[in-house]
Amino acid sequence: MIWAFGFLFLPPPAEDWGFYAHSLINQQAVYSLPPELIGFYKVHIQFVTEKSVNPDRRRYAVEGEAEKHYIDLDHYGDSALFVLPKYWFEAIELIPEDSLRQNGIGPWSAYLTMINLTKAFEEKNSQAILRLSADLGHYLGDLNVPLHTTKNYNGQLTGQEGIHGFWESRIPELMAKDYSLWVGKAEYVEKPQHAIWEAVAHAHAQVDSVLRIERELSQDFPEDQKYSYEERNGLTVRVYSRDFTEAYAAAMDNQIERQMKRSIKMIADFWYTAWINAGQPDLNSLDEAVVEEEKLTPDPKLKVREH
Ligand SMILES: [Zn+2]
Repeated sequence: MIWAFGFLFLPPPAEDWGFYAHSLINQQAVYSLPPELIGFYKVHIQFVTEKSVNPDRRRYAVEGEAEKHYIDLDHYGDSALFVLPKYWFEAIELIPEDSLRQNGIGPWSAYLTMINLTKAFEEKNSQAILRLSADLGHYLGDLNVPLHTTKNYNGQLTGQEGIHGFWESRIPELMAKDYSLWVGKAEYVEKPQHAIWEAVAHAHAQVDSVLRIERELSQDFPEDQKYSYEERNGLTVRVYSRDFTEAYAAAMDNQIERQMKRSIKMIADFWYTAWINAGQPDLNSLDEAVVEEEKLTPDPKLKVREH
């Protein structure tokens, strides 16, 4: 039917948290940093903001990248959070590594990125500090997205295809300008691995409502009111309508805003903690960072799931 009207039927852009939200989250995290850090990060805020989506581009170019963005907790049953070891080396003792990777290694991998950032601070390597800060922001942001913690990541198992991009791209794009995203000052994290798993548990507890409310609301919105069409890059694409988006966001009681704020706070806390753990190097003495553009040529052999 859609073809009959001459529309090109395409899903909305499918990137996790979406370019807009990832950028905004990393940018906001900078403002929570203490004086010793904020000067350096502010000078490079454009890099930290724009490169917040590099890890998503990397998924199509680098083998082993895709699984760093999520964890399918429900693959491990109802008590996944109790069963899964918090530490990578314990996890690979218990479960074959290829199986772990197949179901997502987000929590373990985010911690490794933090360790690498700590090393970069120790070495006062400004290029690495910036690249890893942007990456860490991305990974922590992803782990605060409920649909990054389930194998039903795009509602494909419950007839709700498209909900991934809806939750983390469409809603922030339409509504985040009204969010109040100040999260207070960055704080030291005593146990980063625990903090990561706590965030994942919190996100996962919301999977049910993310899906249920979309399903319930869809009953009140006929197809032609649930979706509308917009021009994107010269193409007419189907998107969730503004009315549906607003109704969903209201029914979710600011869940997306809350999860964005949790991401921002966590990122600022983790950047700060990495710096403390590295012995609080003086960032004013760093060389001027000229960060080389990462070459990310898509590899058609890589299978990347659509989100
Ligand atoms: Zn991602």
